[in-house]
Order: sequence, then structure tokens, then C-alpha cells
Amino acid sequence: MKRTIMALCAFLAMTTALLAGPTPRIRIVATTFPLFDWTRNVLGKQLATVELIQLQDNGVDLHNFQPTVQDIARISQCDLFLFVGGESDEWTEKALRISRNPRRIALNLIKELGNTVQEEEPLEGMEEHHYGKEEHNHGKDGHHDDDDHDDDEHEIDEHVWLSLRCAASLCQAIAARLSELDREHAAEYQSNCRAYVEKLQELDKRYKVCVESSPLKTLLFADRFPFRYMAKDYGLTCYAAFSGCSAETEASFKTIAFLAGKVNECKLPAILVLEERRHKIAETVLRTAKNKNVRILAMNSLQSTTSRDAAAGKDYLDAMERNLTVLKHALGNKD
Ligand SMILES: [Zn+2]
Repeated sequence: MKRTIMALCAFLAMTTALLAGPTPRIRIVATTFPLFDWTRNVLGKQLATVELIQLQDNGVDLHNFQPTVQDIARISQCDLFLFVGGESDEWTEKALRISRNPRRIALNLIKELGNTVQEEEPLEGMEEHHYGKEEHNHGKDGHHDDDDHDDDEHEIDEHVWLSLRCAASLCQAIAARLSELDREHAAEYQSNCRAYVEKLQELDKRYKVCVESSPLKTLLFADRFPFRYMAKDYGLTCYAAFSGCSAETEASFKTIAFLAGKVNECKLPAILVLEERRHKIAETVLRTAKNKNVRILAMNSLQSTTSRDAAAGKDYLDAMERNLTVLKHALGNKD
């Protein structure tokens, strides 16, 4: 990773020419789709007057994303850079360091949320996440050189975008940064933000009502578990095969048996998966549970949505609305 970044750095000057052309009023770079979509909503009509780019835009899951030379050049030249600041985009730290730009405002979602962020504690029955913790080695003063420790700091759960409540405060943070950059349109950004946050809050209310009126309060993911924030918002108990950022694809028999046992014990009508993944584990859990009334349903964790999807009309609110429908089935809510 270090070498890749250094190579990118070396080519940075040369690639600047790639981006030549009429300079937009404001350049905004967002790493992931939710950030892109929230910013688009806060910009409203001003979207046409600025440049807004989503970096992670080839359908690759964010955990497998590697920035290109052009991505680093874009980060170096933008006025506002929006990123998660979690386990899967640790590369942003180095990208910011090697592409210094005193004018640029960087918005780190995890930092912005402060105490709202959750620790990535494993759930009961979950496969262990192999981080190589044995090598975890902080210096005396708590300082450590992160170049050789790309995998060791996973205390924070990064999947904050799957909470509608976090989304609302993050949109306000985006509106504040845009207003700072472009005072002339500050009132517009604030009012677009208010309107969008109202929609988020309205959907949040519907989630709350759905959970309250459901006979079950338990979700089971035969997959990764990026939905900790959603579960926390509505007081749901969850079981899952892997942690949110896990790259594992095979679950042990112990885990399969544990999950199948919970399907039966909690009388769950659904086994959940993340849509972009193969459902092999879910099928194994289903076979092991031997319950014909259980369905495999997919929730969208918004980790590989592209701007082409966005142009085709997909957006954050729509995805979360669909997730609510899945949630309803999974909680046995027949209203
Ligand atoms: Zn992750």
C-alpha cells in the first residue's frame, strides 16, 4: 500500500494535465455513494454549477477499493473532500498527506460523529475477524507508525451511513462545509439540507414504528454485519456470520450451527444477506435450520452503488426505504 501511494505521488504532477479544462466553481470529491448522494441533495440546483465526483464508482465493494493516480490528483485539487475515515478507507489519510492543499476542506464522517460512533464489538456466535492482532504493538507514548499496521485498528465500526440518524447529522455537516466554501449560496444549502433531513427523519420514524409494531426484535445475517448502527437506533438484537468489514467468505460449522439454532430458537422468518454477496452461507444455514418457512432476503448496505446507479434513479433514501420493507418481513411484521 505504501509503495502504491508513493508511486501515485510521483506521478501526481504529470497527471494534473488530465484534469485540465474549464475550472468549475467548486470541486467536491466524495469517496462513497451515500456521501455523493447526500451532497447532491444539499447542493440542489447548485449541483449544475459545481463538480461533484464519486471516487468509488466501479461497483467494487468499498473494502476492496484502491485509489488510482487520477483519484489522488482529484483529491489534491478539490475544495471539499468527503470520506468515511474508517477501516476500509484508511488510504485517505495518506492521500491527504501526499496531496497537500491548504484551501481544501476535508470532512471525516467518523470524526464528525464524535461520541456517536460505535465500537466494533463482535456479536455472539460470530466468526473471529482475523486482523493479525498478535502483531498489535503500540509504542510507549501511544504513538505508532501506521505504515506497517494497516490492519490493526478496528475499534470503530465505520458503517455509519446505515443509520438514518447519523445520516441526518452528516448532511448538516456537509451543508455547513458547503456554506463555508460558498457563502453566497449558504441559505440555499441550509434550506435544501433541512428539506432532506426532514425526509430522513420521516423514514426514521417509519423504521421506529415498524420495529415497535413487530412481534420480533431480532435480525440474523448469514453474511457480514454492517448494520450495527441501524440495530442500535431501533433496539434490535442481531446475529451474524462475520463482522462488518470482514473479508471472510467461509463460515465454520460452529458458526453455521449457531446461526441455524438461532433461526429456530427465535422463530425467525428470514435469513438476511447483503445483496452484493453470494448467498452460499445463507443457504447452508437454511438447510441446517430445516425450516421450510424461512426466506433468504437481501438488505442493501450501499457499499458498491455507483454514480451510474445514481443516474438511473437509485438513491440513498430509496435504498433505505427498500431496506425497511425487508426489515418488516424479517421481523415478522404483517401489517
Ligand atoms: Zn467496513
